[in-house]
Amino acid sequence: MNVRVQAALPDRDARLHTPCAAGDATAAARAGGLLTVDLAALRHNYQTLRAMLNGRACAAVVKADAYGLGAAETAPVFYDAGCRHFFVAHLDEGLALRDTLPDDSAIMVLNGLMPGAEADCAAAGLVPVLNCLEQVAGWSAHAHRLGRRLPAFIQIDTGMSRMGLPEADLARLAAAPDRLDGIVIEAVMSHLACADEPDHPANAEQLANFRARRAWLPDAPASFANSSGIFLGPDYHFDIARPGAALYGLNPQPHLDNPMRPVVRLQAKVVQLRDIAPGAHVGYGWRFRAERPTRIATVAVGYADGWLRSLSDHGAVWMDGIRLPIAGRVSMDSITVDVTAIAPDRIRPGSLVDLIGPDQPADAVAAMAGTIGYEVLTSLGGRYHRRYLAG
Ligand SMILES: *Cc1c(COP(=O)(O)O)cnc(C)c1O
Repeated sequence: MNVRVQAALPDRDARLHTPCAAGDATAAARAGGLLTVDLAALRHNYQTLRAMLNGRACAAVVKADAYGLGAAETAPVFYDAGCRHFFVAHLDEGLALRDTLPDDSAIMVLNGLMPGAEADCAAAGLVPVLNCLEQVAGWSAHAHRLGRRLPAFIQIDTGMSRMGLPEADLARLAAAPDRLDGIVIEAVMSHLACADEPDHPANAEQLANFRARRAWLPDAPASFANSSGIFLGPDYHFDIARPGAALYGLNPQPHLDNPMRPVVRLQAKVVQLRDIAPGAHVGYGWRFRAERPTRIATVAVGYADGWLRSLSDHGAVWMDGIRLPIAGRVSMDSITVDVTAIAPDRIRPGSLVDLIGPDQPADAVAAMAGTIGYEVLTSLGGRYHRRYLAG
């Protein structure tokens, strides 16, 4: 025991003094999984969406750590591409981002203000999205306390019944505009419930509601479209679009070919290989039974890494353009994969298989798992070695 601890010390010491690049290489060698984020693709996707907006502003939604890809790494890419409006969901996400971005960028907090959070929000210069009369009252009162006006987005509910002022509260606000004392309305916004279904009647209904209801508030720029909303056409664009998913390569038009560039590549390493005979079983619950001589690779990714357990039995990974089915259940830290189709000399412990990549985009993984690409990306775990390919 002692010997092992002592032996480990010089090694650890050496690692601490290793230059960055070499440290990165050894970290990649240690890791079970590699997550690569293509910042050039991210920039391209931002520019593609902005080009659709005819000069209107294109914000970047970087909530949930930029959909799992890293807000600190991705937000500056959007900034450099001209983005000046950033959206997070929680105040703490905004506090973390404030130091990352230059002062001429606005950071909006979609969930608005929890009671008592006004001072922290104002002190950091963050812009809350005020979703209800209580949040309006809290922000107005804080402006009075500070003796200066404070910026906000106001969200109105146009039919999703999730966040934003319902029609009745909007009417109350319109009837008593002094409730807005001390608040500078930077924009009025709402959110679409069915934008990924272009034929859904909710889209036109919400659009009509938005047009009618924003007139009840003082005149201000308007923000309406998420990624899919941008693809509904210019009527939906207004002054500031708020894409998230499409920036990260998810398909904003699930019924059509994906116009976005893939951003994420997820690879994991083979831990162990074994040849099993017909009748042998694999994994928890013995859910896979070999019908013929089968080569099984154990791969170092599991549901603790966000490789969802619902991919058990029917998910797949890829190698050399070959689809390799997951055999049996997804474990916490590993999966078992049928690699019989791979030539034996092509695969060994340490070999990489592709989980998300050109052969299998995040949207395809989501379809196999019975969810959406958003959940696949935001589930990506903390144990991957992350690499960011520079633009
Ligand atoms: C998450 C979110 C967005 C971004 O939506 P995407 O579908 O990822 O483009 C925009 N607006 C609001 C209010 C959101 O919650």
